[in-house]
Amino acid sequence: MPLIPMRALLDHAAEHGYGVGAFNVNNMEQIQSIMMAATETNSPVIVQASRGARSYSNDNYLRHLMLAAAELNPSIPIAMHQDHGNSPATCFSAIDQGFTSVMMDGSLQEDGKTPASYEYNVDVTKQVVAKAHALGVTVEAEIGCLGGIEDGHGAGLSGDEALEHLTDPDEAERFVADTGCDALAVAIGTSHGAYKFTKKPTGDVLKMDLIAEIHRRLPDTHLVMHGSSSVPKELIDIINRFGGEMPETFGVPVEAIQEGIKHGVRKINVDTDNRLAITGAIRKVFAESPGKFDPRDYLKPAREAMAEVVKARMIAFGQAGMADKVPHVTLEEMAKRY
Ligand SMILES: [Zn+2]
Repeated sequence: MPLIPMRALLDHAAEHGYGVGAFNVNNMEQIQSIMMAATETNSPVIVQASRGARSYSNDNYLRHLMLAAAELNPSIPIAMHQDHGNSPATCFSAIDQGFTSVMMDGSLQEDGKTPASYEYNVDVTKQVVAKAHALGVTVEAEIGCLGGIEDGHGAGLSGDEALEHLTDPDEAERFVADTGCDALAVAIGTSHGAYKFTKKPTGDVLKMDLIAEIHRRLPDTHLVMHGSSSVPKELIDIINRFGGEMPETFGVPVEAIQEGIKHGVRKINVDTDNRLAITGAIRKVFAESPGKFDPRDYLKPAREAMAEVVKARMIAFGQAGMADKVPHVTLEEMAKRY
């Protein structure tokens, strides 16, 4: 199946009450892991690339990797998404590369660090919506600021600071009316990266009630949870058992995400858990078989370890079993709907 607009997938998810994991790709092994998990569980897929991923892998490699994924898996609907576009220009270049969805993150200025004004956010998001929707491409926007930094992008807010930049439901409602975005990333206390919480998060740091309130006001806007890796202890333990040095840390429990899915969360960004799985598997080979030097000897187990994590998330979010039920909507058809 050719790549589909993310909106078509999220509309189906909303109609049937499930969520879709959005997994980051930087290289061939990661996209293979995601597709292995998707075919095993019959799941539709969102693959996403950050600006950092696009410069690391080069747009041309990335474009051909996703085209290969679509070619090899004709029964799996795939949306390709630009994660955290820092400017309209970044989003437009992604669209030129064949991405079927873009995030215009105008919550921060173009430097990707400084929190921006509401007016700036509306202005850049509207520019992207106008061009993207004319081509049937989906637009995710962000209101409020997430904690942490991801691939050099983020205000670097600590957990406490992030709590001062939570999404305001009034502002979210006004923002969607002002911009016409399809999906909205909300700040509810999550942070990018592995170090999200110092203890298992409770309602005072992870504001799931805020999701319910935003969804009540914006029932037709697909909500997006960023920084939603669960950072399982088992994966940290493998890394540390084989020479790693990661301190104890806590992510977003899968049950909290499932609660979010009941209240309008349709896209869940997961990257850290996959990084942990890959690193643990590689460390294990290095520690147990120090004589090995063929990259395939450690990349193959790394790929399998990531596929296991992706598979578990696909099942937990409810997207498993849905691939063959998502309607085949083309970009042209989607453009006409806007
Ligand atoms: Zn993010």
